[in-house]
Amino acid sequence: MSEAPIRPRIPCPHCGQNLRIRKSQGLTPVYREAVFECRNEDCGWRGKASIEITHTIAPSDIPNPSVSLPFVPRLRKLVMSQPSTASA
Ligand SMILES: [Zn+2]
Repeated sequence: MSEAPIRPRIPCPHCGQNLRIRKSQGLTPVYREAVFECRNEDCGWRGKASIEITHTIAPSDIPNPSVSLPFVPRLRKLVMSQPSTASA
């Protein structure tokens, strides 16, 4: 299992070029707002987006007590089906 980090690319909603993050501000540990700017000089779009962390895929070893994120549904099913019902 190799999980090569992917550099996320967010395309401009108008021209499709990559956006550049001008600034981002964390409002809560799981919610952040960012100002994006289109890299295409002919376009010039600028806008705001919000990034919300919604689920846990792998739990933290040093969890923040004020953060509680549900597991992604697929994993929750896996975790809940694990405990004792190994009948084989
Ligand atoms: Zn654009």
